[in-house]
Amino acid sequence: MDGYFGEIRVRTGSRIEFRNITSDVRRIVGESGVRSGIATVYTPHTTTAIFVNEDESGLRGDLMKVLEKLIPVEGGYQHDLVDDNAFAHLRSIIVSPSITIPIRDGRLMLGTWQSIFLAEFDGPRTRTVYVQVLGFR
Ligand code: ZN
Repeated sequence: MDGYFGEIRVRTGSRIEFRNITSDVRRIVGESGVRSGIATVYTPHTTTAIFVNEDESGLRGDLMKVLEKLIPVEGGYQHDLVDDNAFAHLRSIIVSPSITIPIRDGRLMLGTWQSIFLAEFDGPRTRTVYVQVLGFR
């Protein structure tokens, strides 16, 4: 079994946004030479998250709306007394900081309508995404 580690840097442009990072992850999987295995996509921040879904502007808006309903920016949170970004931490926890995708024949096994997103909840900032590829060449 072989491993390969890649890193993606993303400069986000607003406080809350969803950035499609699929092509960067595909590039790293290609560089890895792994034909059969898994790629774990992980963001090492407490106010970002990773998810997989369709890249459609209406759906991105719907997700913003649902997250605002579930975890409003203003919620009387205790963490806001020290840092004023509790909603961003809570959304990161709910959405999750990582995903794992299977690789077969050297390709990420994403469905036709699936893309990989970095979710920014407390931008704009420079963010990091790690991609750990494990498998057989
Ligand atoms: Zn905080």
